[in-house]
Amino acid sequence: MIPPRKIISCNEPYSAPTEGRKGKLRLDFNENTLGCSPKVIESLRKITAGEISSYPAYGDFKSNLADYLEVTPAGILLTNGSDEAIKAIMDAYVNSGDEVIIPAPTFSLFRAYASIAGARIVEIDYNSDLSFPLEQILTAIRDATKIIIIVNPNNPTGTCIDEECIIRILDAAKNSLVVIDEAYWQFAGKSCKSLIAKYDNLVVLQTFSKAFGLAGLRIGYALSNTETISTLRKAVSPYNVSSLAISSANAAISDTDFVNEYVAEVSKSKAYLEDELRKLGITTYPSVANFILARLGEKSEMAYDGLKQKGILVRSMKKYPQLNGCIRITAGTVEQSEFFIKELKQILRKKAVLFDMDGVLVDVSESYRLAIRNTAEFFTGQDISPDEIQKLKNKGGYNNDWDITAALIASKGYKASKNEIIRKFQQLYLGKNKKKGLNSNERWIAPPEILSALYREYSLGIVTGRPRDEALLALNRFGMPDFFECIVTMEDCPKERAKPDPFGIKLAMKKLGCEQAAYIGDNIDDMKAARAAGIQAIGIIPDGTFGGELKKAFLMNGAKIVLDDIRQLSGVLK
Ligand SMILES: *Cc1c(COP(=O)(O)O)cnc(C)c1O
Repeated sequence: MIPPRKIISCNEPYSAPTEGRKGKLRLDFNENTLGCSPKVIESLRKITAGEISSYPAYGDFKSNLADYLEVTPAGILLTNGSDEAIKAIMDAYVNSGDEVIIPAPTFSLFRAYASIAGARIVEIDYNSDLSFPLEQILTAIRDATKIIIIVNPNNPTGTCIDEECIIRILDAAKNSLVVIDEAYWQFAGKSCKSLIAKYDNLVVLQTFSKAFGLAGLRIGYALSNTETISTLRKAVSPYNVSSLAISSANAAISDTDFVNEYVAEVSKSKAYLEDELRKLGITTYPSVANFILARLGEKSEMAYDGLKQKGILVRSMKKYPQLNGCIRITAGTVEQSEFFIKELKQILRKKAVLFDMDGVLVDVSESYRLAIRNTAEFFTGQDISPDEIQKLKNKGGYNNDWDITAALIASKGYKASKNEIIRKFQQLYLGKNKKKGLNSNERWIAPPEILSALYREYSLGIVTGRPRDEALLALNRFGMPDFFECIVTMEDCPKERAKPDPFGIKLAMKKLGCEQAAYIGDNIDDMKAARAAGIQAIGIIPDGTFGGELKKAFLMNGAKIVLDDIRQLSGVLK
């Protein structure tokens, strides 16, 4: 075998895992997840045999691209992806031993091509918060510095630097080429290409691979002054970009709406991802690109593998020492991000914590309890004590508060139809005409900080006998709907399968995709339902009600744990 150059035998091949991605949700390469503009496909359909059999001509496209970018055609070098531009820069400028400053972590081809060209690589670490190491770079600039690389926005961090920082570097490095890779400039909404007029040491790289969605066609370009572009042209092959790529890129720049709409969608999608990841307790870094770097810590490998199994590809950051425990997620459409988050939650949180609503999340002693009492008093003309109601509750076996009210009325020897009872009860609870209902007396019990801590580790849901409207009324009034990913209400369960039947609990577990769960309730039927569902039953003693007696009853009916206060919950779930 013929030995290659030493540097080639030492260099790791750049082996991005592009195989086997078909049919998957590809959030691993920061491509356009919607594809490309339909105009591109149209232009490819129109290609003639004559165009394919002849060598490509670049003039017309270059002049269109120059107009689009507001630069001159002589200031553009088309390349076979911006990857080729990176190689051309290294080949054209690096003498053996010249220094190339590369901040780390960043796009790995800079290092690869610089070392093949024989450069001495000066790697400068991003700050620990992953902000740009401006001062360190300024300090590192010296006579031997031939090239300084800045990826802006940076890949894989997503972070960016502003033009003032770039100017400081350009001014400090008059004898070095400053290369700004702007692969993601559309998402960041800015480019520093206008500085080319003032700085003859500046080269800007852009690509059709990302926002335009042409990664498979391999076309990018370098922008600089005429002289530098002429130099770089000597380092690439003359027909480096295919006529298919030229025709497609030409169509792509004619459809500005496609890119603008995609950029707007990605921006929404990214905000959604950041918000959801934060709620899961996962650190993200401020990204202006179409991807997010997320620090999952110990769980990152598990999440990466789990997502892969579900057909979602993200990028592992294992190879970057500073990014241990991180994954990089491409932000595609909002719908794709929602799917990603849903699956991620199922991977991270195997267990569900389900709540009964009344008496557990919401204090209803002055609402439903009072509605029972006042309705019964209305139909019987007798005083009813809260204890009488609690006794019935403790006994269990009633589907809802209407049934308890009916039982109470019947126990006093009075008759009223179910419909009359419900009508009166609802009038009292919801209010009538301008009069406020008893529901306005409700108080939220579960502290939001407890819920947000639980949310990080568990899927949260509600299984309540309340009608859906009344459940949502309370959640919205107290600003709590975001914590609960699944709300099972009266309407979701056939009447004969209300608690203590485990139907509602099982339905919630199925919706959340969890095989393990705990159910937190304040009455016997809750404990029975949890036991019948085969999950952990946790009883909460409502304020000021027969603590001892109820506790005993809870334990007898399946509760493993009985708490006086929902605040004690986090300690007992494991
Ligand atoms: C994706 C990417 C490129 C590669 O672009 P091509 O034009 O497809 O070669 C270049 N630089 C950065 C920072 C990238 O993320």
